[in-house]
Formats: sequence, structure tokens, C-alpha cells
Amino acid sequence: YDNICLILGDQLNAGHSWFQKKDQDTLFVIAELYQETQYTKHHIQKLCGFFMAMDKFAKALKKAGHEVLHLSLDDTQEFSNLPELIRHLTSKYKATTFHYQRPDEYRLLEQLRNLDLPNTATKESDTEHFLLPFEEIEKTFKPNKAHRMEAFYRKMRKQFNILMNGDEPAGGKWNFDQDNRGSLSEEAIQDIPEPISFSHDARSTIKRLDKHGVEYFGSLNNKQSFIWPITRSEARQVLDYFCDSLLPKFGLYQDAMTLHSAHAWSLYHSRLSFALNTKMISPLEVIQKAIQAYEQSNQINLAQIEGFVRQILGWREFIRAMYWINMPDYQNKNSLDASRSLPNYFWNGETKMQCMRACLSQSLEHAYAHHIQRLMIIGNFSLLAGLDPKAVDAWYLGVYIDAIEWVEMPNTRGMSQFADGGLVASKPYAGSANYINKMSDYCQSCYYKHNQKTGDRACPFNSLYWHFLDRHQEKFAKNPRMALTYKNWQKQKPENKEAVLKQAKTYLNDIEAL
Ligand code: FAD
Repeated sequence: YDNICLILGDQLNAGHSWFQKKDQDTLFVIAELYQETQYTKHHIQKLCGFFMAMDKFAKALKKAGHEVLHLSLDDTQEFSNLPELIRHLTSKYKATTFHYQRPDEYRLLEQLRNLDLPNTATKESDTEHFLLPFEEIEKTFKPNKAHRMEAFYRKMRKQFNILMNGDEPAGGKWNFDQDNRGSLSEEAIQDIPEPISFSHDARSTIKRLDKHGVEYFGSLNNKQSFIWPITRSEARQVLDYFCDSLLPKFGLYQDAMTLHSAHAWSLYHSRLSFALNTKMISPLEVIQKAIQAYEQSNQINLAQIEGFVRQILGWREFIRAMYWINMPDYQNKNSLDASRSLPNYFWNGETKMQCMRACLSQSLEHAYAHHIQRLMIIGNFSLLAGLDPKAVDAWYLGVYIDAIEWVEMPNTRGMSQFADGGLVASKPYAGSANYINKMSDYCQSCYYKHNQKTGDRACPFNSLYWHFLDRHQEKFAKNPRMALTYKNWQKQKPENKEAVLKQAKTYLNDIEAL
């Protein structure tokens, strides 16, 4: 073969220009690699998802008439890493050029850019997936500098002419966040639609992982089948289902959380992140389809579609830009010097804190939690308790089906843990029980009392919240968005403050017992 083209597990983009013509001199390589199972400990659904989607993609390419080499863990076991495999293949097939698409993870980019192939040229292509080209990232963003999503998002709306009326945003406003804070009534809870799911047999994949001694955690769901989309056609079904059944209330219940529905784990969220991050579906296609649904339906109002577009055109592209402009330094950031180890309940969900139990258990069961669960519950707790951001990152990177470092890390280390010192977020996302109680029904049946700061049953989020603010006073007291909170704290009687801080210390000293 003249050309060897590498397709990574998150590059399953059938619309890529590589596949536009068939060429008997070009071999496409898709390979399961042990190294990819090892950079963190993964949830079993994440491992299965990637390997099964790669398998389907290889089959689809073959069927379309391309030359494809699909290697399993068995086939690649003699190579200790990706460069070794590439060196072997290029020499075996006497390839003149080795092609790869620019990886979205720093780790893989380093490996591929440092490849030294004696008799083969190397060519890097774009993945043709994101809306913002790499050159634009370098032009618009500066390393180690704070950037805000809102300004970026408005520019993207204008640049791509999405939800615009000439130069003005549709509806006269850029942001409908105020309309997107609905909490779920009992009636609304009954109406939560069942999430769309598939039934894939993952047994042979799991057997192969076991055979190669890959360690993982979590399980498949009860039926022992894999429920996430693993083909482009399934990804489109998930998108269609979202537009028909979930988009009408997407924004409204975006930040809501409940215990009282079998579908509480997915609510009105699209669950498209895995399909998007593996590139089975493109962000532009998702946005266009959702806007088309909005235009054709009288069920979907502007607040819902704007809320959705903001996540993909705004947050997703912004987060990626922040990752690339700040790597590799970003992975070592720990601006709050947090160092506590992860409590065991992150791995088994066994805690008396109802909110944490619900969100951790659901993450372990489904390899999924929606945004506010990741941010307001698990992330918030980790921040308040001062958990080591490296450990927090490793957990998030392992547990979620959609976790790839470029999107996981700025969300976790930046938005959620403030470990980047405010590059991504303008203030730490810290909240007490009051806040959790407003957005969920978790507190109602919790062992702890959400309205108590001290005492045996006081909700840990309360004293930990004040402890967090107190210990980082120097950093945050001057932040205009936090000044009022600090004023309130400083107004408290010294003995009250002391009691709250003492309570927090007791909790922190025995964090496993919470
Ligand atoms: P929906 O709620 O339906 O949103 C639609 C789409 O918008 C998502 O599929 C996603 O592609 C995009 N999106 C929404 N919010 C964000 C965001 N903050 N950053 C990037 N894209 C966004 N998302 C990941 O894809 N992978 C991760 O590893 C990941 N880790 C996260 C860690 C933390 C601590 C937090 C707070 C958020 C993280 N997110 C991550 C963002 C977000 O929580 C998930 O994208 C979302 O929950 C996926 O579910 P969904 O597809 O149902 O999303």
C-alpha cells in the first residue's frame, strides 16, 4: 500500500474527505491498543463503547469498498505502544506515506508528531469535525489567560449565522438562562420520557479485555447489554429522538435533578456526547437538525433551542480551545493546592449524602451523569472537600462514556475544581445545601439535614462550603462575584463561625464516614 491511514477510536467520522474516493493503494488502519485502556482506569461501558464503535466503523468502511485493517487487542499485543505498531505496519506494507488525523488528545498528538519513520513520509490532516479550526484557536485564545465562554459564543453565533436575525440574536437576547432553571413538579416527573437505548451484545469485547488483563470498573446495565449508539445510524436515531421528545423541555429542566423517576438519570438530556466525541455525528449536523426541529414544531420555544445550541456551539468548542491553548501545562494545574485522596464512595456510591449517592451510583451504573450532577454535586463536593484535582480528573476521565481528555479536563480541573485559577470560570463553582435543595429533591429524604450547618446530622455541604470560603479567603474575598458572600461570613459571630469550621474539620477528618 502506498498510503497507510490511521483512524483513532474517536475519529469515526464517515463524512471525512479521506473516504470520498476508493483507492486500492490506501489501507485504513483501526486498532485496539492496550495503551488506550491504561491511561486511566476506565468504566467497562467506556471501553466497550469505543471498541465496539471502532469495529462497526471498520465493517462499514469495508462494506463501502475501502481497504481496511482492523486489529484487535490480540493482534496488537506484541506492540507496546502506538508508534511501534505504526513503524511495523509502514515497514511491512512499504508505505510511502503514513497519514493520520490530528488527535484531540495531547498524549496522542505527541506520540504521532514524534514518530520517526525511516522510509515513510508523514502527513497530518484535520479531523473535519469541529466548527472552529485550530488556526483560529491560536489566533483567538492566549495561553494561561482567562477567557469567557459568553463572548466566544456570541462570536460563534455571528460567524456561523446560527439563531441570528441579521446582526442581532434571534429573540433579541443572547441568553435565556433565566428561563432554564425549572424544577420538576410531581406531574413533570411522571412525564420524563424513557431514554432511547440499544441492545448490543458486548460479551466478546469484555472477554477480550479480560483475556488481556485490562482492569476496569462498573458494569453493563441489568440486561448485560450495551445501550449506547455505536453506529452513525444509531447516533442519528438518538438525535431524532432528542429533537422529537426531549428538546421541547431541554432548557427548562436542564439544571433539574430528581430521585423519583426511573429515567431520572437522563431527564431531557440528549445523551449525544458519546456519539459526538467519537465523531460518529458532527456538531454542525446536530445543531442544524435541532434548529430545523425548532422551526418546524410549535412545541419548542427559543429558550430551549438556544440553551441547546449554547452547549454545542458555545461550551464544547470553547472547552476544546481552552484545552489546546493551555496544554501541556494545564494538566498540572492545582491553584488551590488541593491534595486529599478520593473517598471510597467514588467507587461504590456508598455514602449517606443522598445527592452524592444518587449521582455517584448513577455514574457507576450508566457511565453517565448529566451536566449539573457532574458540576453541582460531585464536582462541588470535590472542590469543597479539597480533593486532589489529579485524582478527580482521573476519576472523571474513567467513569464517563464521553470522557476524552480534551473535554473532560477543562471541565473538571477548570470549570468544576478551579484548579486553573480561573482560566475557564470566573469564580469557583461552590455551593451549599441550600443550592442543591433548590435544584433537586435529593435533600428531602437525606440522612443529613440540608438546613443545618452544625450538629450530627448537619449536611456536610454546609460546613464544607464555609470552610472552603474561609480557607481561601485571600484568593476570593476580592472577587466581586463573591464579595457579598464573604460579607455575610464576616458578619457572623466568631463563635458561630468557629462551630461551623469545627464541624467541617470533623467531617474532613473522617471523610470516608460521610
Ligand atoms: P446535553 O445536556 O444534552 O448537552 C448537549 C451537548 O452539549 C453534549 O452532548 C455536549 O457535547 C455539549 N456540552 C454540554 N456542556 C458541555 C461542556 N461543559 N463542555 C463540553 N461540551 C458540552 N462532556 C464530555 O463530553 N466529556 C467529558 O468528559 C465531560 N466531563 C465533564 C466533567 C465535568 C466536571 C463537568 C461539569 C462537565 C463535563 N462534561 C463533559 C460536559 C457535560 O456535562 C457533558 O457533555 C454532558 O453531560 C453530556 O451529556 P449529554 O450529551 O446528554 O448533554
